[in-house]
Formats: sequence, structure tokens, C-alpha cells
Amino acid sequence: MNIDITQLNTKCHFKLDEFVIDKTLIKPSVTNIPAYIIYAIIRYYLIPLNDIRRAFGNAVIISKSSCYRPFLYELSKNRNGGSLHTFGQREEEHEPSEYEKKGACDVTVRVISRFVDFATLIARGPFMRICIYPENKFIHIDYNADQRHFFVCSSETDNKWKAIRFEQYIDYAQIVAGAPNS
Ligand SMILES: [Zn+2]
Repeated sequence: MNIDITQLNTKCHFKLDEFVIDKTLIKPSVTNIPAYIIYAIIRYYLIPLNDIRRAFGNAVIISKSSCYRPFLYELSKNRNGGSLHTFGQREEEHEPSEYEKKGACDVTVRVISRFVDFATLIARGPFMRICIYPENKFIHIDYNADQRHFFVCSSETDNKWKAIRFEQYIDYAQIVAGAPNS
């Protein structure tokens, strides 16, 4: 456990329930969520995104509360439950890997015209895989690599992840923002 407590001393712009897609797990109590997942949400997403929110100076949003998506929730949506968004949860006996335990999070901003600034701040964060969804206007972040990689996912790429360079990632952010490269 290496949460830097001093970081929690600054204003927190997020509430835990913003990171959980199934609100029945939050209210009346968060005890339905495994402790390691609550820890991972705070350590790997809430704290770094709070820093990014402060630097950005405007609202940062967990897109559709899509950070932790419980395994059974995924099955109920006809997904196979293999997403990193389950933080390694499976129905059967399954010991999550270190990567899986760190989960995943989808993030966006309220002021879409500032998407390039936001994407740049995300790229400077601690996240290892950064995938921009230009049509859905959000960025998926996770830790499932030892080095930083950028991806795009859109109808152009058959809705599959395609590796891109940082410069291309920024180009896609510019498309989202609706601003030509100048
Ligand atoms: Zn995602």
C-alpha cells in the first residue's frame, strides 16, 4: 500500500461513486466492492486524475462511470467479462494478475473544445496504455504494459485498438476538439 496521504490533503474533485458503473454497489455501502478494487481506484485513477483535474482547471469526467465495471454487470450487458474494467474479477476461481488488479478507466471532459489540453495532460500522467476513442470522445487509460503506448479505436479501425504515435494521438484529440491543426 503506497498511497501518498499528503496527496489526499488537497481538494478532491471526485467521489468514489463516479468510478463505479453499478451504483447499487455504492449505496448504501461500498462494502460490496472488494477492498483491493477500492484501493486501486483511488491509487491508480482518483489521485492522478485529481492532479490532472487541478492542472486542467475544468471538469474531468469518468465517462459513463466506466472505471470499475463488475464482472456480473459485464455479463448482464452481454459482454464476456474479460475487460480490464472488471479489475480482474471473474466468476470462477481466478487470481488477477498485477496488471488486471490495476483495472482501467474511461475519461473525458465537459469542455470538449479543450480536448487537446486534456489529452496532453493524460499523456503526461502515470498511465501506460492510452487509447483515444475519437467518435465517442473519451480516452481509455490503464496500466497493462511496462512502457507507455498510445492507441486509437474507432470505426476506421474496425473498433479494434490500433497502435499510434504520440503525434497521431494528439491529431485525434484535435479532431475531437473540432479544431484544425494550426
Ligand atoms: Zn475502457
